[in-house]
Amino acid sequence: MKINKIKTVSFIFPLYNEEEVLPLLIAKLENELRILSKKYNYEVIFVDDGSSDMSVEILIKHMRVVPHQLIQFSRNFGHQSAILAGLSVAKGDYVITADCDLQHPLELMHEMLALAESGIDIVFTKRINNDSIPFFKKASSSLFYHLLSKVSQTVIPESSSDFRLLNKVALNALLSLPEKRIFLRGMVSWIGFKTTILEFTVRKRPKGVSKYSLAKMLKLALFGLSSFSAAPLYLSALFGLLFSIATIVYGGYVLYIRFILESAVAGWSSVIFVLLGIGSILSFLLAILGIYLAALYDEVKQRPIYIIRKK
Ligand code: UDP
Ligand code: MG
Repeated sequence: MKINKIKTVSFIFPLYNEEEVLPLLIAKLENELRILSKKYNYEVIFVDDGSSDMSVEILIKHMRVVPHQLIQFSRNFGHQSAILAGLSVAKGDYVITADCDLQHPLELMHEMLALAESGIDIVFTKRINNDSIPFFKKASSSLFYHLLSKVSQTVIPESSSDFRLLNKVALNALLSLPEKRIFLRGMVSWIGFKTTILEFTVRKRPKGVSKYSLAKMLKLALFGLSSFSAAPLYLSALFGLLFSIATIVYGGYVLYIRFILESAVAGWSSVIFVLLGIGSILSFLLAILGIYLAALYDEVKQRPIYIIRKK
């Protein structure tokens, strides 16, 4: 008789000042975990990202309703760091990360696990029908992913979220990335593996306000862009090229005025030539610097050069 070992699912919730929403989350989680526990063991990991409200007290109070571990940061380090901290202590065969403001529909966990059991390593989710998201957030996010997809070789789907499942192999690969500037959406896409995307309708936050300030969003975008594309470094090459073309065209015009029309002010042609020449040489030199800086940057990131899925 074949005995199937019961697998464990780890849930990771980063939270920052979520006292209003936590009781709702716990009620919802309790419901879903009741269904889940027929097939799986589970562990729930809350990562408190330096909350200054009653979040921690509320979590401790609800320990009996939903047993969980609590990791407390010494200060607010950010959503991405909190998720990573949870991932690095998770013991499950599968890990599921989700926001704790109920914007991510937790009932999707059953479908995610069914996909994982069928051999998928990573189940991504993608927001559809984003009516519950403020216009500015939607527009800036769409612009960012559009730009990133143009300049990065890693395909990071638009509207992707940090609500996802990874199996153990994919998780270990993710944790093997040594970088400090964490942009999980990019990193999880970068490691590869068999993946699929589940679509979900994002909900309105039932309580509380967004903890993602504009500054935090900008920082995340900057991390994403600089960690997944060296394209901006090559911009000087483009400028160098444009400058050279301008030098040739405008240089021709200067020669025309000087020698054909013979109407140039004394000294003007030579000054213009020197100016254009210096401009293009400088841009080219910058481009060379950019190329080496990009190479250096890739080395400094110390990402593995390959990842094995199975041996
Ligand atoms: N969060 C965090 N640290 C932060 C900001 C947010 O751990 O510095 C958590 C937050 O409690 C929530 C999740 O990250 O569980 C997503 O944040 P939020 O819902 O405020 O962002 P939004 O959905 O508005 O993008
Ligand atoms: Mg939210």
